[in-house]
Amino acid sequence: MRSAAAFTILLWLAVACTPAKPTPVTVDGDAIKRHIQKLAGDDMEGRAPGGKGEELATTYIADFYRSLGLKTSFQTVPLVGLVSTASSMKLTGRGGNRELKFGDEFVAWSKRQEDAVSAKAELVFAGYGVVAPEYEWNDFKDSVKGKIIVVLINDPQLPDQRKFGGKAMTYYGRWTYKFEEAARQGAAGAIIIHETEFAGYPWEVVRGSWSGEQFDLARPDKGASTVPLQGWITRDTASTLFKVAGQDFDDLKKRALQPDFKPVPLGITASVDIHNRMRTAESKNVIGVLEGQTPEYVIYTAHWDHLGIGEEQNGDKIYNGAVDNAAGTAVMLEMARAFTKTEPRPKRSIVFLSVTAEEQGLLGSLYYSENPVFPLNKTVANINIDGANVYGRDNNQIQVIGSGYTSLEDTLQRVAAEQGRTIVPDREPEKGYYFRSDQFSLAKKGVPALYTESTTIEDNQEYTANRYHKPSDQFNPNWDMRVAVRDAEALYKVGLDVANADKWPEWKPGTEFRAIREQSLK
Ligand SMILES: [Zn+2]
Repeated sequence: MRSAAAFTILLWLAVACTPAKPTPVTVDGDAIKRHIQKLAGDDMEGRAPGGKGEELATTYIADFYRSLGLKTSFQTVPLVGLVSTASSMKLTGRGGNRELKFGDEFVAWSKRQEDAVSAKAELVFAGYGVVAPEYEWNDFKDSVKGKIIVVLINDPQLPDQRKFGGKAMTYYGRWTYKFEEAARQGAAGAIIIHETEFAGYPWEVVRGSWSGEQFDLARPDKGASTVPLQGWITRDTASTLFKVAGQDFDDLKKRALQPDFKPVPLGITASVDIHNRMRTAESKNVIGVLEGQTPEYVIYTAHWDHLGIGEEQNGDKIYNGAVDNAAGTAVMLEMARAFTKTEPRPKRSIVFLSVTAEEQGLLGSLYYSENPVFPLNKTVANINIDGANVYGRDNNQIQVIGSGYTSLEDTLQRVAAEQGRTIVPDREPEKGYYFRSDQFSLAKKGVPALYTESTTIEDNQEYTANRYHKPSDQFNPNWDMRVAVRDAEALYKVGLDVANADKWPEWKPGTEFRAIREQSLK
């Protein structure tokens, strides 16, 4: 009798102490579809930053967050539109005088928010222009302060595959990195040598990308921390230049792969004059927060912007951006709904950050990363959604873009297995897609960030060829959202796991953002 009573009490205690098993939360595919239809409607005018499309889209998102009971706010993102015009590049010194033609032989601009910027300095070949302590690599063994450096695109492809990710591009291979490092070295300019094979795109893309208006964040320092002259030069022009300087392109390229490489002065002075025309614009990020019990955060990001109204194609000039990124935004809205239904509530806060101006160079997320609303060293992870699988096919696989970077991948693997799916590594690591959407803005500041895709190779090729960044990226009522729902549920579960886990996600050893994170947590 007594033991039975004790047993009953024990049983009761056991039941009382076991947290209620959370009811499985599901994501509604039809609701995702309705959001896409709305956000990609012609009345949204392609959701360009500034203007009517922005007003409608950000209001829609904010209203939805409020309807879920999330703490909702806007973050103003000050932008500046810059049209840079460059003179020809005058070369003097070894081999006499010569002028390089803008567009055919080089392109150049300045991110200094000033009307006129002039650069005149000696050209120095600086290899890959990389400082990577984790790989014991430094291309700047001699100072290049005040010089215009000429650097190779991509990162050193060394025989030792552990360094610079083997065939995968690390951040050291991206053109944005080259300009940032040049600024840190105090260079007067940085010119990247274009090689189609190693850049991943032809010269026409380089040339086209830097003509017309470029947006940037309007900074209090007017861009004073950027390297004054930025540009590209064709491989042929660089080769000729090196010959005039008594050097050989292939030989210099080989030397750049040696650990003892030092900058090579070319004995040629280059001068370029830049004129900037500027206008300011304002845009905004939308933030919805499900508050947790600890001041720590999991941030989901999805950019709401697209290209707006542009050049007419097949009688249509509204770039609706249905897949890119009305779809990702829609998925995030429904994930937010799933989180509000989650019992018990996640321990850490869940932030839904709808960022602007991704298409202008990740500017909304960059602004957030430089002006974080929640401390980055209390932000345990970022999960980014750019695009969605609207085709209903996935071969039961989730591709991790930038695989091998963070432990979030291991969490995803577990979650995917529960769905009967597997994760596959980045199919094109040499293209550096990890650095080309909003997760990168947070990764660069050390926040472990995850970016995935489940679209099959065939569907992706069809999309890239026919709809990517075209007016034809439009809502289709026949879309099959089954896989988009599975993806949303997987990323929801990863976020939930991270929000409740004892251990924070981390960068894997040997990755270029690990040291930044360690530093920020000190
Ligand atoms: Zn996008």
